[in-house]
Amino acid sequence: MNIVTRRPNAVIAISLGLATVIFALSLWVLVEMRKDALRRAQESAFNVSLLVERDTARNLEVYDLSLRSVIEGLQQPGIMQLPPAIRRMVLFDGSASAKDLGSMIVIDETGKVILDSQASPPRDMNLADRDYFRVHRDSPDVGLYISHPYSPRYSHDTQSIALSRRISKPDGSFAGVVAGTMRLSYFRRLFEGMNLGAGGSMALMLADGTMLMRRPFDEKIIGRNLQGTSNYTRFTQGASGDFFGTAAIDGVPRWYAFRHIASYPMILDVAIATHDIYAEWRHRAWIIGSLMAAVDVALVALAVLFSQQLRRRMAVEEELRMLARTDGLTGLHNRRAFEELVDAEWRRAQRSGRPLSMLMLDVDNFKGFNDLYGHSAGDDALVAVARCIGGKARRPGDSAVRYGGEEFIVLLPNTAEAGAARIAESIRAAVQALQVRHIASSHHVLTISIGVASTEKQRFGTCRAMINAADTALYEAKDTGRNRVSAWPVDARMEERAMAAEPSASQE
Ligand code: GH3
Ligand code: MG
Ligand code: MG
Repeated sequence: MNIVTRRPNAVIAISLGLATVIFALSLWVLVEMRKDALRRAQESAFNVSLLVERDTARNLEVYDLSLRSVIEGLQQPGIMQLPPAIRRMVLFDGSASAKDLGSMIVIDETGKVILDSQASPPRDMNLADRDYFRVHRDSPDVGLYISHPYSPRYSHDTQSIALSRRISKPDGSFAGVVAGTMRLSYFRRLFEGMNLGAGGSMALMLADGTMLMRRPFDEKIIGRNLQGTSNYTRFTQGASGDFFGTAAIDGVPRWYAFRHIASYPMILDVAIATHDIYAEWRHRAWIIGSLMAAVDVALVALAVLFSQQLRRRMAVEEELRMLARTDGLTGLHNRRAFEELVDAEWRRAQRSGRPLSMLMLDVDNFKGFNDLYGHSAGDDALVAVARCIGGKARRPGDSAVRYGGEEFIVLLPNTAEAGAARIAESIRAAVQALQVRHIASSHHVLTISIGVASTEKQRFGTCRAMINAADTALYEAKDTGRNRVSAWPVDARMEERAMAAEPSASQE
């Protein structure tokens, strides 16, 4: 506790430490929340892509089964001899009439439509130029072929793709193609039913990069080839995957989840806009960030205020401590301070073996001065005397003390008797040089007498004994005419008296 109540800087340091911890914690929380937001988006993109893939694959499979059953039907002997209406019912089962599936047709090896699920007799069309016709004609083992998107030539249908299979003769040679059309609007509706956020996108393309459907929908994009774009390149690098990318079509950065549709040559991608992924997080980050910043600022501000108060209080305490040790009139140490100082210096001198000297000073005939010039002039004279004392005892460690009314003590650590006597003499001379008129004195000016005691000359048993010795020396100075310096030991008569008397005993 003391470390805080005595050290204002520690208060600020602790508050800064706490603020840093709070900052680091909030940063950690925000980073984790951001990761969570991305995780949620990743899951959601993954789930949507899985859903759409399943739906698409199932529909393609159903449609493929219809194509196969048409081929199987055509291989039944006598099928072509059935009446057209019955033949259509046998060959084209109900799946071909599902909502997004267009007509199903059988084309002979010349490209001529010979059977049509929607018209009997079949519409007079030659489709030899269609890619699905050419592909099957040129290669026997294509299996299910999914065509590029096209706008049906003979109906007002929307853009479609054709699913087709080759019909082979028993010897394996080309006999024609069975093809069914699938409206791309099926995918458009499928895409629009998914929840992807405002900036989300979805696309279905052929494995060669030809765009079949995209959300947001734009008719012009259908049929466009994406080969060469960085996203398409990544789609081709695995059966499924995810990554951060930017769409070549609109330049929006998004999180992509892509997958190849089961065994079909199609790629699906689902992408959530980076802006949408972090929208909610940004909002919360603002709130949490500002709250934490406010807490941090408040914490440090409070700590600064507290430390200022602490500093002020400490300064006041220090001043009070100093005042309690200072004499109000002269500004010298007071008697209370002297008791502490003398004790400490005495012990230090005992430890170090270095000399400690002491001067005891008393203003001569001061009672008379007061009587003559008044108490106030007396006070002024005491201040002047104190200034002389302070001006001469200036080494570090020297202490000037107002010991009693007009009595002073100077403590001189590390000072031998000769040095102490020299200082005493210079103080005495300085007071005399003040030339403060004192007509009742035999010197006609204010003077002082000084007693000197030093441990250099005598091993005093206690510091009290040393004070007594200085006091005795002072008596001798008074007895021998005042305005002089006397050093202990004094003559035998004085010594006897010193042994018997206390320093507070009267002088004369
Ligand atoms: P001596 O030369 O023997 O010291 O004679 P003295 O008159 O100075 O005798 P003493 O030391 O007994 O007198 C002390 C006088 O100092 C008593 C008092 O009137 C005066 N005195 C003590 N304290 C103060 C003070 O704070 N202000 C003033 N003006 N006078 C004080
Ligand atoms: Mg006195
Ligand atoms: Mg006196």
